[in-house]
Amino acid sequence: MDQIIQLAYLLAAISFILGLKFLSSPETAAHGMLLSQGGMFIAIVATLLYNGVVSYGLILGGIVVGSAVGAIMATKLQMTDMPQMVALLNGFGGLASALVAGAEFFRSQANLTPYPMVTIALTLLIGLVTLTGSLVAFAKLQELMRGAPIIFPFQHGMNLLFFLATLGLIASLAITPTATPVFWALIVIASILGVLVVIPIGGGDMPVVISLLNSYSGMAAAASGFILNNNVLIISGSLVGSAGIILSQLMCKAMNRSLTNVLFAGFGQVNTPSKPVSSQGKPQGTPEEVQSCSPEEAAAFFKKAKSVIIVPGYGMAVAQAQHSVKELASYLGDQGTDVRYAIHPVAGRMPGHMNVLLAEANVPYDQLIDMDEINEDFPETDITLVIGANDVVNPAADTDPDSPIYGMPILHVDQSKRVMVLKRSMKPGFAGIQNPLFFKKNTMMIFGDAKGTIDQIANALK
Ligand code: NDP
Repeated sequence: MDQIIQLAYLLAAISFILGLKFLSSPETAAHGMLLSQGGMFIAIVATLLYNGVVSYGLILGGIVVGSAVGAIMATKLQMTDMPQMVALLNGFGGLASALVAGAEFFRSQANLTPYPMVTIALTLLIGLVTLTGSLVAFAKLQELMRGAPIIFPFQHGMNLLFFLATLGLIASLAITPTATPVFWALIVIASILGVLVVIPIGGGDMPVVISLLNSYSGMAAAASGFILNNNVLIISGSLVGSAGIILSQLMCKAMNRSLTNVLFAGFGQVNTPSKPVSSQGKPQGTPEEVQSCSPEEAAAFFKKAKSVIIVPGYGMAVAQAQHSVKELASYLGDQGTDVRYAIHPVAGRMPGHMNVLLAEANVPYDQLIDMDEINEDFPETDITLVIGANDVVNPAADTDPDSPIYGMPILHVDQSKRVMVLKRSMKPGFAGIQNPLFFKKNTMMIFGDAKGTIDQIANALK
């Protein structure tokens, strides 16, 4: 039986690896999901065949309750709430690994040698940091606590101290595994450490942190695989661990930040919008100070346009405007206008956010063009329609060395012949800064909810 189980694990591991590979392209992503789910199903069934299973009743109860909770959460969840959902799931992953570590500690405490003891303690440490860190990330994104960084004197020093304390406790347990109070102390300090490392990070940087915590949950799972001598846990945990780190790095690169800067700089702490200044030296920032037009006036411009680039951002996700956008784009396409979408890698609030929404609306993949590829086309474009995007089109990233987003690669929409920016107000986006694009001569603002406004433009066109 053991050989069959190991063979099933190998099959599951191959499915995970191929699934990840397929997930790297929108065309194959759905197959990737199916393949990975199939792999997980095989892994679960194979694990249930172990003769060490104590109670099938308990496992069945867990499956029923867990599946029901998961299904309800998944159906009720808005796409914009996905980052906090992922945070919760990571936290549960960390908790599961910590529970495995705890169970193994109390089960075999009397016979533990240093190697398994250190493995157990490390699993507990990573699992609990993931759990409490993810809960803080969830609370920040769900606005259950202040999203701004919480900073206090000697914070990093204190975090280092707590980390060193956990290492000390692990060393002590390696020498004396029977010291149960030390084990409890490790539980408490690891849990506090998770909170401490996440509170100084701004709510807006949470997606990067969540991706990092995702990586930690993978490492915790891999470590628990060593405790249980379970190959599929080691492989899948390592895959999650490395994918999470790679994703965190990609997100940081797209924001022109380093991981260290995200983790330790308290970004978003000072929330003073850098307002652009008018030629008379007065600060600007109200709707009266920009050129605006109605959806009907916008439609008149679209009638004449030969080329249009649509730039979606977080506001499109909030308004759930993707289907209306697709309808408008199809109508324009039918009239002979060349329509494409410019995709910034960190538009929205999670990697691939815009791709997912536009795919949901059945926008053809070949119309979605990456930032680097489309940037040179803006000067030749008649109209660029910015839908609820702000930071990713902010020219201050190129021109204002004092701006918090200085150096972040952006879509150069301001180079288009005409820019139409669709948002509800002059409020800033995620970075909390004003956008000089709104004040440019070739920019027109169309104030209103993205979905309603797009529908009005489409109706006026028809
Ligand atoms: P922004 O957050 O910069 O701006 C979104 C804009 O959408 C707001 O200015 C808001 O203006 C507008 N908006 C909100 N709701 C609506 C609505 N219903 N209808 C119309 N407009 C609306 O979004 P971007 O996509 O441009 O940039 C993403 C930001 O998030 C970047 O700074 C990025 O670094 C950051 N980030 C992204 C991550 C990712 O993985 N994608 C991860 C971490 C951070 P108003 O309120 O006036 O309507």
